[in-house]
Parts: sequence; C-alpha cells; structure tokens
Amino acid sequence: MKQVWKCDHCSKTDLDPDKILKHEPECSFNKMNKYCYTCKFSYEEGYGGEHIPGCEIRLDTYKGEDEGNCPGWVYEYIDEDRDNKLNELGI
Ligand SMILES: [Zn+2]
Repeated sequence: MKQVWKCDHCSKTDLDPDKILKHEPECSFNKMNKYCYTCKFSYEEGYGGEHIPGCEIRLDTYKGEDEGNCPGWVYEYIDEDRDNKLNELGI
C-alpha cells in the first residue's frame, strides 16, 4: 500500500504532493476554470467511444475544452453549491 495525493476535482493521484498542487489550479474539472467538463450545457456528441464535445447552446467546445473560461458556462449544481456555502456560514 502506498500513500498518494489526490486532486480535489478529479481522480488524478501522485506520490509527489507538488505535482498535485500544480495540477489542481489547471484541472479540467476545477470549476474555477469553467471548462466544458463541469458545464451544465455540455454533452457527448460522439458515438462508439469517439469523443466529440457537444454544447446545448452551441458555443465553441474546442475553446471550452482547451482554454476554459467559456462565457456560457453554467455549473449544474450551482444551487446545491450555494446552499452548501450558506450552510457553512450557518445561515
Ligand atoms: Zn484534477
């Protein structure tokens, strides 16, 4: 058994904590980056295992997957997220 460090946003693990520390701010699943992967409007358009990104509001998925910060990005669990923050504050 080995102790590993795991990204807070995806399943990436490493023995070196510095690698995970560097990865987390750039992680495709980090909501701060507003990539397609965490967006409510993204869906899989490919068939038979081929990955073709789809966007329900027809924005540029190549930019959305590679650069992030999509102007149409909406997090699916935004209400849950807000409720959790309010709960943490005891409101
Ligand atoms: Zn990650």
